[in-house]
Amino acid sequence: MKCPSCRGGMDKGTTTLPYELGRDKLIVVRDVPALVCAQCGEVFIESPILKKVESLLDAVEKSVMTFGFLEYREAA
Ligand SMILES: [Zn+2]
Repeated sequence: MKCPSCRGGMDKGTTTLPYELGRDKLIVVRDVPALVCAQCGEVFIESPILKKVESLLDAVEKSVMTFGFLEYREAA
């Protein structure tokens, strides 16, 4: 696909997504598969992948963890 911002080519890569959950949790999800624009650096994440990230975050939201890093995993 083409970059939505500059129409440049996008390469497969990974990105890191920081999430604030509520007022007191900060979770950073690493190694999330993404398409990264070679020209402007815009990052695009496909919706099935975002859904998996959200399900990982759901589990964290119910735990006592307030700050930390998660690795993205296929089997979420
Ligand atoms: Zn771009």
